[in-house]
Amino acid sequence: MVTVLASYRSGRGGTNETSDGRCAFCTNDFSDEQRLGRAGDLNIISPLGQVVPSSLVAFQFPRSGVADPCFSVAADGWARDVEEFERIADTFTRWRGGRATVFYEQGRAGGGQLLGRSGFWHHAHYCSWPGEIDVERLVRTMDPAVVVTQLDDLSDLGRAAAGRPYVVTRKFLDGRCVDSRLILPGSESSWTALEDSHLKFSLAEQLGEGDFRDWQTRSPERTSQTAHDFRAFTSSTHERRMA
Ligand SMILES: [Zn+2]
Repeated sequence: MVTVLASYRSGRGGTNETSDGRCAFCTNDFSDEQRLGRAGDLNIISPLGQVVPSSLVAFQFPRSGVADPCFSVAADGWARDVEEFERIADTFTRWRGGRATVFYEQGRAGGGQLLGRSGFWHHAHYCSWPGEIDVERLVRTMDPAVVVTQLDDLSDLGRAAAGRPYVVTRKFLDGRCVDSRLILPGSESSWTALEDSHLKFSLAEQLGEGDFRDWQTRSPERTSQTAHDFRAFTSSTHERRMA
């Protein structure tokens, strides 16, 4: 196991070849329909493969050089943009009549692994799900040996993650952040699970949505509907300035 992990943790700085077509975020490879606006330096999109309809993703788009593989190793200032995205996404949820929005980042690259086993390039991005989803429980289904701590201030993420893969999850209720947690590996197996597993797949399974491993082909109508709804939201509220 140790040998596998040693060869697997490729380490940051191994390559700068991010424009190889494998990472949609690095190449900004999204349709005009999917592009919804910005939150600071983050781009907001309606992603493909939405397990929960009306999900959004905010990702870092590198203005120069190479994007950060996850927020825990990003340069200072990202937390402010993520908080802006949270405010926008949660306002969108409430505009649609919901009360709760759950956010997460699965920081697979926190330990230095840049590529998933499937060749998926890790890239800092932050996801929103409308509704009440217990992310901690989802992660525990991937591997129960995780350690959960409070993360009161997002900008403490780098220090708290300390070079480990992680999941950060925050819950908003009635417009307020009511829960902010950092999920870290508590064993070697959970380290691997946090690097390898996809929360989306576990969520789809739990919600009876079937196999989402081929997520790019799943439920394209949700991508369009979310984009349509978000544009109606921005044109009817003060979020107009983002469009
Ligand atoms: Zn990328």
